[in-house]
Amino acid sequence: MGLPKDIEKNFVFDLPEMKKMIRDFQGQMENGLKGEQVSMGMLPSFVSRPRGTEKGDFLALDLGGTNFRVLDVRLSGVREIEVRNSFAVRMPEHLRHGAGRELFSFIAGTLKDFLSKNNIRSLRRLGFVFSFPVQKTAPDSGTLLSWTKDLTASGVVGRDVSELLRRALEENGVENVRVSALVNDTVATFLSAAYRHNDADMGLILGTGTNACYPENTERIGYLENKYRYFPEMIINTEWGGFASLARNDFDRRLDENTSRPGEQTLEKMVSGLYLGGLVKIVLDELVRKQELFKGGDGDAFLAAEFETEDISRIEADCSEKLSGVDDFLREKGVLFSTHADREILKKVCALVSKRAARISAAGVGAILSRMDPGLKNRHVVAVDGALYRHHPWFGPRMQDALRELFPASSGNIDFVQAKDGSGTGGAIAAAISGR
Ligand code: ADP
Ligand code: MG
Repeated sequence: MGLPKDIEKNFVFDLPEMKKMIRDFQGQMENGLKGEQVSMGMLPSFVSRPRGTEKGDFLALDLGGTNFRVLDVRLSGVREIEVRNSFAVRMPEHLRHGAGRELFSFIAGTLKDFLSKNNIRSLRRLGFVFSFPVQKTAPDSGTLLSWTKDLTASGVVGRDVSELLRRALEENGVENVRVSALVNDTVATFLSAAYRHNDADMGLILGTGTNACYPENTERIGYLENKYRYFPEMIINTEWGGFASLARNDFDRRLDENTSRPGEQTLEKMVSGLYLGGLVKIVLDELVRKQELFKGGDGDAFLAAEFETEDISRIEADCSEKLSGVDDFLREKGVLFSTHADREILKKVCALVSKRAARISAAGVGAILSRMDPGLKNRHVVAVDGALYRHHPWFGPRMQDALRELFPASSGNIDFVQAKDGSGTGGAIAAAISGR
């Protein structure tokens, strides 16, 4: 017994597939920068690399797909970032799906409480980190193109989100805050790393969603009007979660059908935290129904139980001989009896799904870095933020394995750094840059 081979085959993402993805991805980068319609965003950020000399106290709001954070940040002017105060809250579920007005009112209200609690009365510039695809036309404004990560809050798509925030601040009587920058979380993560060390080359998010950004030579950005070519480079928000040239299997399709926007965000649904747990659950449920798993009789309890991406990390972290951690997990779910083979199958499915996710991410990183530097001759720093990368025990190592396969001679030049508080502090840096 063991895991049926056909299941395993579904989730293989081998070297030829990674190479093909790199070719397709680079083709779309190129065409997207010309202004052609491609499956990724390739959106201009109207921000370039920070100098590291930006200085002062700034506020940041970080709206992810799951969490919302407020930060009070001091930039030293000599590449040091200090988070002086911060507040984090899980976004209430009803705000993900209610009226956009309530979402913005919640944001403004939370900021107002934060300011009063920390006694911040003087005028502050604020960077709004908004982790969704935005078409920017200036550093401090931009229009939401579509929600991702299964948000559906009404009345926001097609609107200027900075303006919605300004209005909500006004309505909540917040007068000492100026919204001076709007950035994506991946751009903010890049800014935060680049402020500390000048050599960052990419920002990467692996959290509720997934995305990447990199600084592009402005001469290569065909769609940019000349008046915006004031910097030699501009950070491009790839919105790689939309990348669609990937072969989906039957399980991917079933997952997709139950999302709020079927057919969209192909890569994100194969890679990011919002979806991986659900994908594993679909595979496991099928095995239970086919009597390949939990034949001991507790299959129904498993079918009825929730399964989260966090559970994948927990299961894959169990390296004990008897898989006793997996057993504990199953007991919590009401599966009181499992065989060692059952537990191995469970762990194997988690590994298959998350390994494919890591290898797709690695191919994306490889595509972006090798566009900048075809032979990867120089050292490259990839700044990463997001709880999936931070907490999954093997996500990072598996990405590095995949990059070694892709670039045997030069993958040692790629370094991943965890940008602690990256997406939040980057918002403060964006606000600081906007004033220079
Ligand atoms: P956001 O995406 O809102 O900015 P995070 O970066 O904290 O927030 O990501 C939260 C998501 O990361 C969760 O929704 C979940 O999918 C995933 N996640 C959280 N904890 C873990 C974990 N232990 N292992 C794997 N994934 C996790
Ligand atoms: Mg985030």
